[in-house]
Amino acid sequence: MAAKILVVEDEAALCVTLRDRLRKEGYVIAVAKDGATGLERATNENFDLIVLDLMLPGKDGLAVCQELRQIGANTPILMLTARRETMDKVVGLKIGADDYVTKPFQMAELSARIESLLRRSSHTAEITGSHYRFGSIQIDTRRMEVLRDGKLVALSAREFRLLQYFVEHPGATLSREELLREVWGYDVAPSTRTVDVHVAWLRQKLEHDPKNPRSIITVVGLGYKFADQPSKLVQGLP
Ligand code: CA
Repeated sequence: MAAKILVVEDEAALCVTLRDRLRKEGYVIAVAKDGATGLERATNENFDLIVLDLMLPGKDGLAVCQELRQIGANTPILMLTARRETMDKVVGLKIGADDYVTKPFQMAELSARIESLLRRSSHTAEITGSHYRFGSIQIDTRRMEVLRDGKLVALSAREFRLLQYFVEHPGATLSREELLREVWGYDVAPSTRTVDVHVAWLRQKLEHDPKNPRSIITVVGLGYKFADQPSKLVQGLP
């Protein structure tokens, strides 16, 4: 299947060049012209790779990168930058970017970096991917896909992470604070209500009767509990 790449870049001409060239190479390309839009799309859709410009109007590439990592997104990020020195630091400090290309660059160089990152990430995913199954639900952490009765369920990246956290901790009472910390990644939350809203969405999508949930149950006064015993199959290398 063609890899899906999100290009976050505000220079119109460069956007067109990148889009056309990468499409020719067989990738599926989506474009966002500012950081906030890029972050939103990256959070709500599944991409195999993100090409992220450093200098963007509003939220810059560094902020987008950091926020994506904070919510647990591990999509490979290739940064575009005019400042080599800064990027050595960013990639070195593992703020989140996987690699970078300094502007102006040759398209051939960018393509080579993209290919290498995609290869690396599919290799890692093959080692670390797991399948979970409970009731009529199947979860594939490698593909970040959830099937219900064999049909694909549309989940945002955050809903997926929340579900994954639940199935990885079956039977445990999980407080809203723990879920916020582990799934959203901040210690002081804007509101624990965020967790309730996402749990409600997951129930709508996964529970047979969302009003009387049987998998993600409420523990009054404490939080939530994943009440199923999922079976787990760890994928190894082929
Ligand atoms: Ca720019």
